[in-house]
Amino acid sequence: MKKTNIWKPDTCNCVITYEWDTEDTNINREHTVIHTEPCEFHKDQSKEVVFETVKDENTRKNKFIADVMENVPEIVEIDVKGQKKLKEDVVVDFHFDEERNLNINIPSLKSLDELALKNLAETKYGVNKVKLNNTKEEILVSSEETIK
Ligand SMILES: [Zn+2]
Repeated sequence: MKKTNIWKPDTCNCVITYEWDTEDTNINREHTVIHTEPCEFHKDQSKEVVFETVKDENTRKNKFIADVMENVPEIVEIDVKGQKKLKEDVVVDFHFDEERNLNINIPSLKSLDELALKNLAETKYGVNKVKLNNTKEEILVSSEETIK
């Protein structure tokens, strides 16, 4: 049976409707895009390109957070389902910039872990594809400004 799903990714404002076949038990089963309402970054592209691009960005974010959890066990806990998750008090801020590079801020990382993860990110995802804690100083400046 064909089923449709509406996906609202947390990496941009696209809304993507895709279809899949419930008979297909393959882990990598085919998802066929039906319709997209593209965000400002992904407009003027075919729906297939939008779907692939948004999947790529969303996967990059998820994989990098998995890398963080793998490499920094002290900020990880196990939830009721036995899945790893970041502890409640760990702040993760992310956005994709205009070049669609992932900017991710995790202020609680120790500098050694931060350095190791920056190296990992560059090797695994490519130069600048994942920018870890690059905007930390800007954030500090702007929070000071709001105090005044
Ligand atoms: Zn988008």
